[in-house]
Amino acid sequence: MNAVDLYRRLPKKNCGKCRPKACMPFALSLIRGEADLAECPYLTPDDISALKGAIIKTDWREELIQSLREKMSTSDLSGIARDLGGEFRSGKLFIPCLGRQFEISQDGEIQTLGHITPWIRILLLHYINTHGKAELSGKWVSFSELKSGMVKASSFLRECEEPLSEMLASGLESTAETLMKLGAVRTTDFPAPYAWSLFLLPKLPVIVLYWPEEDEFPSKVKVLFDQTADRFLDVESIIFLLEGLVKNLGMAQPENINCQSEKS
Ligand code: SF4
Repeated sequence: MNAVDLYRRLPKKNCGKCRPKACMPFALSLIRGEADLAECPYLTPDDISALKGAIIKTDWREELIQSLREKMSTSDLSGIARDLGGEFRSGKLFIPCLGRQFEISQDGEIQTLGHITPWIRILLLHYINTHGKAELSGKWVSFSELKSGMVKASSFLRECEEPLSEMLASGLESTAETLMKLGAVRTTDFPAPYAWSLFLLPKLPVIVLYWPEEDEFPSKVKVLFDQTADRFLDVESIIFLLEGLVKNLGMAQPENINCQSEKS
């Protein structure tokens, strides 16, 4: 089922009660695995189970998740936990990512508080399947210097660095505060007015450099990666991880917090 077919089966009230605020964006978010059918209050439990079955059948990501889970199920989680920067407890692997703790079972089932998108599952499973085989190099490189980074550099700029720059420009203090809550630490080791180091995954640290607007120069963000980043995730997954950071920071902006408290 594509997004248009799915849209036809939604209530089409455009009431704005779901996160995407309208039925067509909601259909697109569902196809991308970024929304839950339960967000629409007009869908009955029967509607939800019928639509869920139809969406899953056409979602290629579920097939990828299944194959990654199969590969992961033969891994010795207790043996690789330390190399991945995680913990092994009660038969499960625990890995922190973007301020949340994820709990992974031997069969690849992933649990956390809140909604998990297929993309988060995919990138965590990819990460685990590397078995943490590389040590951090301490050498920082730009996204385009990672393997295949050049091909995706414009997407990375548009979807990650530019939104980060806009957020910092419109609310430096609040955005910096949220970065800190996610574990970021301010650093003065880089030639930028503002720089934070942050672990997006235990073996995936980044440096966020920020230059505020000055004279005719607009504000700018540059994200640096440890040289080994592409051994833990492919560049598409890295973009998704940074998009996750942008979303987390966006949700914590004062205007969004106000909106959420008005709704509750
Ligand atoms: S809550 Fe349902 S009806 Fe309302 S906009 Fe979202 S999908 Fe459409």
